[in-house]
Amino acid sequence: MAGGPVSAPLDELTSWNADWKGLRVGVLGLAATGFSVADTLTELGADVLVVSETATQEYERLVPVIGAKLHLGPLRDVPDELVAFAPDVVVASPGFPPSHPVVRWVRESGIALWGDIELAWRVRDKVTRADGAPAEWVLVTGTNGKTTTTRLAATMMVEGGLRAAPCGNIGVPVLDAVRDPAGFDVLVVELSSHQLWYLGLNDDAGSPSPHASVCLNVADDHLEWHGSAEAYRDAKAVVYRHTKVACVYNKSDEATMRMVEDADVVDGARAIGFDLGTPGPSDLGVVDGILADRAFLDDRRTSALELSTVAELAEHGLAAGHIVQNILAAAALARSLDVPPPAIRSAAAGFELDPHRIQIVATSNGVTWIDDSKATNPHAAGSSLAAHPGAIWVVGGLLKGVDISALVADRGAASRAAIVIGTERRPVVEAFARHAPQVPVYEVDHAETDDVMARAVALAADAAREGDVVLLAPAAASFDQFRSYGERGDRFAAAVRAHITEADG
Ligand code: ADP
Repeated sequence: MAGGPVSAPLDELTSWNADWKGLRVGVLGLAATGFSVADTLTELGADVLVVSETATQEYERLVPVIGAKLHLGPLRDVPDELVAFAPDVVVASPGFPPSHPVVRWVRESGIALWGDIELAWRVRDKVTRADGAPAEWVLVTGTNGKTTTTRLAATMMVEGGLRAAPCGNIGVPVLDAVRDPAGFDVLVVELSSHQLWYLGLNDDAGSPSPHASVCLNVADDHLEWHGSAEAYRDAKAVVYRHTKVACVYNKSDEATMRMVEDADVVDGARAIGFDLGTPGPSDLGVVDGILADRAFLDDRRTSALELSTVAELAEHGLAAGHIVQNILAAAALARSLDVPPPAIRSAAAGFELDPHRIQIVATSNGVTWIDDSKATNPHAAGSSLAAHPGAIWVVGGLLKGVDISALVADRGAASRAAIVIGTERRPVVEAFARHAPQVPVYEVDHAETDDVMARAVALAADAAREGDVVLLAPAAASFDQFRSYGERGDRFAAAVRAHITEADG
């Protein structure tokens, strides 16, 4: 073991004010999350070695400035420098899968392994509210709808007078929110299945005990990372652990209900269901076009509170079934913190979806072009196809080990045509041949074009007739041909605009 000061035992490190000095921490990964971990720990006086394959020049420059050491290079094997460093704890960024050689080495060596969320929970008392308590946490996960629901819930809470901030997988590391000197009443934390897998490793002083939590839905995704569908579901279920007030689940998705039934929650925590049907007592749902809360009111056996209406949401482009579900889930989280119904109504009405989520790019010659590049798995693409039956569907990319054939059979079969992009086209084309042979399928062979989207848009335009929708909802990740789903959507939009200009000219 290396010399130097001996740190406090890990189970005593449950406060920003604990003695973190001299704790030896290996940090895996140097993007936004890894940097927030290293920055926090060096501020606390820990001894930090960051290990990463890549880093932006900015992060590479900043690591020595904050007083941490850096090992940058391939991580096919455990770097000697990390072994010699003899860490007390390793904090991994969510990109590191369980099968990663360094992660395996950490676990086999019996070294404590945390994710950034566990560290953030331990130091969440850095900034406290007027009553001296740290911000409450509300946790959001699910295969799809996480970012939308997280933003919606935070917006409703702010509208209701709470100082609330969205953070986590949404793009602001939780450690940055926890250290924000502004201070918050509530942190709405979006958690990916990867972050939840890390939380599931330990049930200890670092396990969050949220005020409320939700798993919006579960469908196969990220199977390569987790190893199996079961492991993916087990990770998602961790979101409910130690919930204090409300475990919000999707009544139409039994898996989420079972997660709540099996969860180890704080005594008195309630199960709150949501879906698009008529709500029972303890549910939120829709009756006669009214979004209703039958959970957070005293006389819930006989009455309900009106939160909004489908007609009002439709005026703001928010009436698609999956968006209404997200609004109901977010409303349940906000209502668990006593946000009044009028605040929920106005927050929902003023809400704007983020780009690349069912975004209308253009309407020209009677054809509407829609960018749902964020539909990176079959479940998400299924909800957009359900909202646009008969669309010309632009599909394909990195399938992440997920089988697309059920989606093709259920929803793809109603498409007017399919334009298949990506490097893994064969499973998609074969699924159409088997389950929807009537749908004309056009492939974009990347070997034959240097602009995949221009080609895809040209093929879609050829197939389109007046009144058609062309829907980019790839059901797959983008990294085989684009830097991100954002770039994929931007290229689609650019190709659509170029096509329209050319056609009009
Ligand atoms: P996430 O953060 O989980 O990826 P987003 O809110 O960014 O979720 O939405 C991602 C995609 O998933 C959207 O493009 C939309 O097509 C789809 N989607 C959003 N909410 C839902 C939902 N509740 N059920 C199914 N699909 C959804």
